[in-house]
Amino acid sequence: MKPVILFAAGPSRWRHWEAPLRAALSDAGIDADLVTETTPETVDFIIYAPGGDTPPDFTPFTRCKAVLSLWAGVERIVGNPTLTQPLCRMVDPGLEQGMVEYVTGHTLRAHLGIDAVLAGQNGRWSPVVPPLASERPVAILGLGALGTACAQALAGLGFPVLGWSRRAKDIPGITCLHGNKGLRSALSQAQIIVTLLPATPETENTLNAETLRLLPLGAVIINPGRGTLIDDDALLAALDSGRVAQATLDVFRTEPLPPDHPYWSHPRVTVTPHIAADTRPASASRALVENIRRGLEGAPFQNLVDRKAGY
Ligand code: NAP
Repeated sequence: MKPVILFAAGPSRWRHWEAPLRAALSDAGIDADLVTETTPETVDFIIYAPGGDTPPDFTPFTRCKAVLSLWAGVERIVGNPTLTQPLCRMVDPGLEQGMVEYVTGHTLRAHLGIDAVLAGQNGRWSPVVPPLASERPVAILGLGALGTACAQALAGLGFPVLGWSRRAKDIPGITCLHGNKGLRSALSQAQIIVTLLPATPETENTLNAETLRLLPLGAVIINPGRGTLIDDDALLAALDSGRVAQATLDVFRTEPLPPDHPYWSHPRVTVTPHIAADTRPASASRALVENIRRGLEGAPFQNLVDRKAGY
């Protein structure tokens, strides 16, 4: 019997995903029924992205071997009590490359003072030479798939990189820190802080009034992780006091960011509309199909979410 794969990520995405998914299945030699609707009891795998206000009920999917998330962040599904099947998150080279480009671009923008250059095209010759990257420590909070790729790219450009994770790590060329002491150490040294943590109860408000006070004066924050990582009022106060010179924010507690939110009009905040790293159908389809192959062969799934840790 052919395995049944249910694409449960909405009709607008189906248009972009159907062809790459069929191509990846064919390349892997998997003959499957890829559908957008069917009887739940017949489904072997669910490809899922959150949508709508009602959480899905996974109870009737009694034969389902795994739910495969289209997104890296799984905070909207991880706590669903009806989900008893294994949950795999998205790890894909396209996502990684997109995030490396976003983080590197905005780090270099801050490092080279590009905003000041653009604002200073006024006929006045005012040479301000930026320091070399080796004199600009960067902290990456979160050393997972994306944080590690960004840390390595920045280290490759010569930035001293301090990385912070939940568990102890050893990544060549990166100063790896963990625990509360490690966070304090990273924040008190870094001039640019990149937040790439998942949204969990433990990471909520990692950057708050107390931790923001640890930063060197004039630090820059780049948040492509999740909106919940930052206490917004504390960040606005730190921007107004000058403790934080600039913040580039891609993710927010409410998305789209409401038109009257103070971030939109703040002169030292750049808002990007959750575009740091998109899941690209061509490469991500191959990642999904690799897990389908593993499920069919009884091999362990890749990128399994630790339901207790929440990511
Ligand atoms: P990941 O591989 O799961 O890595 C998460 C990292 O965060 C790990 O290093 C983990 O530590 C660390 N962490 C988790 N909880 C922590 C805690 N309480 N204290 C300290 N460190 C903690 O995730 P990823 O693939 O790199 O993605 C990171 C996040 O990026 C996603 O969850 C998502 O929210 C966001 N994202 C945003 C976009 C966008 O377009 N803006 C796109 C994709 C993803 P351990 O290594 O010890 O487990």
